[in-house]
Amino acid sequence: MSSSESILPRPPADGPQRVIIVGAGLGGLACAMAMHYQGFEVVIFEKVRQFLRLGDSLGLGENALKLLKRWGLHDELIAIGNKSPDMHIRRWHDGKILATQPLMDMAGYIGHRGDYHDCFIKRVNQLGIPIHMGHEVVEYNDDECSVTLKDGRTFWADLIVGADGIKSRARELVLGFQDKPKSSGYACYRAFFKGDVLRNVPECQSLLKEDCVNIWIGEDMHLVQNTLRNGEEFNWIITHKDTEDIKESWFQPGNMDDVRELIKGWDETIASAVRVTPSCLDWKICYRAPLPTWVSKSGRIALLGDSCHPHLPTSAQGASQATESAAVLALCMKLAGRGNVPLATRVYEKLRFDRVRQSQLSGEDLRNRWHNALKHLNDGEDLDPDDIKIKNRWLYPFDAEADTRERWPEMSAKVKSELESGNITPLFGEEGPPRVLTVRDAYGKVKDAVPSQYSVLPGLTV
Ligand SMILES: Cc1cc2nc3c(=O)[nH]c(=O)nc-3n(C[C@H](O)[C@H](O)[C@H](O)COP(=O)(O)OP(=O)(O)OC[C@H]3O[C@@H](n4cnc5c(N)ncnc54)[C@H](O)[C@@H]3O)c2cc1C
Repeated sequence: MSSSESILPRPPADGPQRVIIVGAGLGGLACAMAMHYQGFEVVIFEKVRQFLRLGDSLGLGENALKLLKRWGLHDELIAIGNKSPDMHIRRWHDGKILATQPLMDMAGYIGHRGDYHDCFIKRVNQLGIPIHMGHEVVEYNDDECSVTLKDGRTFWADLIVGADGIKSRARELVLGFQDKPKSSGYACYRAFFKGDVLRNVPECQSLLKEDCVNIWIGEDMHLVQNTLRNGEEFNWIITHKDTEDIKESWFQPGNMDDVRELIKGWDETIASAVRVTPSCLDWKICYRAPLPTWVSKSGRIALLGDSCHPHLPTSAQGASQATESAAVLALCMKLAGRGNVPLATRVYEKLRFDRVRQSQLSGEDLRNRWHNALKHLNDGEDLDPDDIKIKNRWLYPFDAEADTRERWPEMSAKVKSELESGNITPLFGEEGPPRVLTVRDAYGKVKDAVPSQYSVLPGLTV
């Protein structure tokens, strides 16, 4: 679209309802597909001019894949994923395997973010949905349900979706204040490079033979390593304590001397690979408290994905939860019917909040278990593998669309009465958002992680 071109007059009353999506990340693109399949006219504005193969490894779980399949994407996504059936959780200094579990318990399919993104873009293009690149949204008008671009043009829609990522501008409008990130106390060094770099490093050759995923856990630190494209590409991410000032960025360079210092004494299989790594990124993990709402006052601007529910890397669910949110929002729009956008968006946030929160918390829970597992072991004492296993399995059988259809009658009736009374309940009360998620047995051992609405097996407590 050229900047002189005038697109999108106000949506006509008798045509399909129009959805403007701000941001063509995985969340925005999933939302575009979902909205298209529910019969809406979709337009995407994306601020960057061109997409590069950015980021590194990202997981797509079965919970997202079943939705993406309905929107015409499946085999090409599976083909991107790491082919290892299992992952190993190892001790930091000698690499001893402490636990082994199927990769599907963790992330589902681990692939390069850029490759998944490319598949999403191709599908959105195939569906004929316009993505307007180099079009930065600088203003949202809640009363008018419009967005204004940097070049001054304004566009109207029935619904606007703020899928504009972790540094979302839409979030400021929805909240009415700037939501500054706080340091989580942790940071990640991330590196992604061709496996060839390690060709002359004998100690790490076992990691290059075939696709693999390994995690080394130590005190207050863990390292996740995986290959991509059958060992052609190599990725490591070190999560460590960090109290430095935060700069929220996907691109901040890390200091490899600091990294080499950090992994002194670690298992040579991985330490040798880290030492020769040419460069890395320093990714501060910012904490953002759960938002009391994802929807603007008028009910016609809704947040989706990282703008309202960012995840820690240990949850491996950021993209998958954004995909679920896309499916739920689109179906709510369909079920609410024309002229009922605020009903749709308010039901959407209420249906999504608990599940998303528990998925976020599972990432925190796992990081804490890994960082503490070896702290209190006496010499010679063995660790129970169950204590460090990833407990994400409950996330995968979920069908976000089926769940929405099932809960729509009750939730929409509740929201209708809230809208009539003007008394909209926030997503969590004064006691704060839910924090408990881990299921323990009678001895206090972690058995599973399930959302509170699921029933817990006899003998276990949440
Ligand atoms: C460059 C980059 C690298 C990443 N690397 C990883 C990784 O290696 N591993 C991992 O697990 N996760 C990574 N992520 C995050 C991951 O992609 C998301 O957690 C997940 O896919 C949900 O995405 P989202 O669509 O909500 O947000 P994002 O993927 O952040 O997408 C937001 C999009 O909105 C656009 N945008 C922002 N503001 C505006 C505006 N005002 N107007 C128009 N467009 C706007 C951005 O350019 C971006 O394309 C990365 C994200 C980015 C942007």
